Amino acid sequence: MVAPSSRVFALFPVHHDREGQFAPWRADYWRPRLVNLPAHIIQLSQLGLKVQGLDPGPIDGTWGPLTQFAYERYVSLNPEQSSVEPSETFSAWFAKQGIRHFSDKEVLFRGARDAKLKLNTDPPRASWPAIIPTLRVLDLLRDSVGSPIRLISIYRSPAYNSRIGGEKNSFHTKFCAIDFQSDFVSSAVLHSALGKMRTKGVFKGGLGLYPKFVHVDTRGYNANW
Ligand SMILES: [Zn+2]
Repeated sequence: MVAPSSRVFALFPVHHDREGQFAPWRADYWRPRLVNLPAHIIQLSQLGLKVQGLDPGPIDGTWGPLTQFAYERYVSLNPEQSSVEPSETFSAWFAKQGIRHFSDKEVLFRGARDAKLKLNTDPPRASWPAIIPTLRVLDLLRDSVGSPIRLISIYRSPAYNSRIGGEKNSFHTKFCAIDFQSDFVSSAVLHSALGKMRTKGVFKGGLGLYPKFVHVDTRGYNANW
């Protein structure tokens, strides 16, 4: 999965940092920029991601799925580096992310039980980039099953999460997890399709199978339940 065009966000060293030092281990040494990338610049970006402890796949100058996920994970871990403008609405920001099958309204759905509880909120601005890798996984899954996917639980405020019995540090509270279901395909089939995508290296994250829905998140390492 490459970015929607040949223009991609990539990490660049900040040449004018305070001391002018080579300090790639510092988050503020890097800045993301949207550019057309030649291979040697992609390699530099991949090296930057690797030095930051993220896995961009082979340092080969090709912007593939692992590099894209590593980049997006970098942005979600360093929200001050993200491309979210301070005054931008979620809807305006979301429209630029290249998500094909899900709307901003679906992604901000607060969960069925919140209609009564009224404890949930919209995700904090700094967490917005965290949901994009997970939505890219579901975009691909939607392509492969060829029928609609319904998002039933995405962001949960800590209060809402604890009230509905969610795990304390649930990735739903970090806006990188989605519970979803389909009227056309069983949970077992959806779950197994995601498992195959994960094995192929399309993403790293958690997969949970429940009778009526599937959980997926892109926490950066694999987990199963
Ligand atoms: Zn979940």
